[in-house]
Amino acid sequence: MGTKTIRDSYLPYGRQWIDEEDIQSVVNILKGDYLTTGPAVAEFEQAVASYVGAMYAVAFSNGTAALHGACFAAGIGEGDEVITTPMTFAASSNCVLYQGGKPVFADIDPKTYNIDPKNVEALINENTKAIIPVHFTGQPVDIDELHQLAKKHNLVVIEDAAHAMGATYKGDKIGSLSDMTMFSFHPVKHITSGEGGIITTNNEEYYQKLLQFRSHGITREPNKLVENHGPWYYEMQFLGFNYRITDIQAALGTSQLKKLDKFVDLRKKYVSLYNKAFKEIDGIQTPYQDQNGESSWHLYIIRLDLDKLSVSRKAVFEALVNENIGVNVHYIPVHLLPYYTKLGYQRGICPIAEKLYEEIITLPLFPAMIEEDIMDVIAAVNKVFNNYRK
Ligand SMILES: *Cc1c(COP(=O)(O)O)cnc(C)c1O
Repeated sequence: MGTKTIRDSYLPYGRQWIDEEDIQSVVNILKGDYLTTGPAVAEFEQAVASYVGAMYAVAFSNGTAALHGACFAAGIGEGDEVITTPMTFAASSNCVLYQGGKPVFADIDPKTYNIDPKNVEALINENTKAIIPVHFTGQPVDIDELHQLAKKHNLVVIEDAAHAMGATYKGDKIGSLSDMTMFSFHPVKHITSGEGGIITTNNEEYYQKLLQFRSHGITREPNKLVENHGPWYYEMQFLGFNYRITDIQAALGTSQLKKLDKFVDLRKKYVSLYNKAFKEIDGIQTPYQDQNGESSWHLYIIRLDLDKLSVSRKAVFEALVNENIGVNVHYIPVHLLPYYTKLGYQRGICPIAEKLYEEIITLPLFPAMIEEDIMDVIAAVNKVFNNYRK
């Protein structure tokens, strides 16, 4: 291989885009009266609810805490089974474990890489209480089919939409459709609040439970109190957590939300450049897109046809890193993580996801990239494939 790398500086696979307006919004909070539990939190919640078209939103310290809250609100407890996908970040199923429930992994669709409703149905039994589908890479799952199953079997649907802010399903924004939907505001996601997450819902009961869960299980609302000793009085009515988001984070989130549509458009533009370039390369499968939804493109994942290459996925990965291209692998199937195998989950329960894991590489994709960055990635992929083609 040549000695000169395609790039001089390392290009990460994802990162935030913070502008002066974002910085000013945080500075205003720092100069104000409330760093936490102030008005910026409700403002952020209202802005997100209105963007996705949901009635309520409850912001959390991070997306994982938000998923925990959703499982609590859904009443998940000891012995309850919750069906989710293995092709996700561990948080999608850890939230079930936090509540003493049992995650059950349904294999994915080989084309979309999303949870396959057929496999979900096969796993439903009398202990099944909920489904946590993940819009993997930002491509919406088949929501109508999952809702039909949920209705038939009386299940709660909690969408893990950490990848899917700004995505639509049959014309509706993700976040308005299921019992509850979670978004994450980690810096690699569509918009950021540093750390942060949110649940959107149209259900008032879930909304009230989420608010109380986020703050120790404590309420001060007169109509919820069992007793009332006076103006100082509050009740802790169940064991909640301190999962609050700060006003600093919320203000950043509100400012970022104004740019979401622009961010998604840039992601789509870069994806079309990738798709066009990689269609020509023998040995690369570009992402399939289902016509029922429009992805908001959190991740761009190529699948390698290893029969066409003289080396392993690991060697391709390392060669791209050597070109200063920040590649990644999303994800190691959750049931193969050591904590899960110790719980008894075995290789072989989700063969499609397990095989996919062996063949994928995530390429850099974030709105603050410039077109030159995209061309560097394309050049690096071409260089590596030309070296390693059989
Ligand atoms: C990022 C992410 C989460 C968790 O979000 P945090 O805000 O990092 O806690 C959950 N699920 C998926 C699929 C994610 O990508």
